[in-house]
Amino acid sequence: MFKEIDHIGICVANIEDSIKQYTEQLGFTMAARESLDKQGITLAFLSLKGETTVELLGSLRDDSVVAKHLSKRGPGLHHICYRVENISSELIRLEKLGYRLIDKTSRPGAAGSKIAFLHPQSFGGVLVELCQRV
Ligand code: ZN
Repeated sequence: MFKEIDHIGICVANIEDSIKQYTEQLGFTMAARESLDKQGITLAFLSLKGETTVELLGSLRDDSVVAKHLSKRGPGLHHICYRVENISSELIRLEKLGYRLIDKTSRPGAAGSKIAFLHPQSFGGVLVELCQRV
């Protein structure tokens, strides 16, 4: 079962401008910054009181998933990430229930976490990420 919202992922056109906006105008603090060169994306995790986290997703290349999202839909909501206790058993449980998985097994996420994505078709058009924290 899902425990809580881990973070909300938002695609942005210019990550540096968005980081400035969130930290200088909205009261967020930078929790983590990471670039995934293989995937051509750059991430910034911004937090309110360590409780609410927004993940800004920026693109490093024209063929990245973020660049594709930006050209198709423009900036905006990309995914909602729910925290789970055990991601492996959760993926098995959801697949048995008929949910469409993008990742059949978990992969490494930011800060040593394990993550997996579920297809928007199974969640009314919303891309869902699962996250198991270490
Ligand atoms: Zn995420």
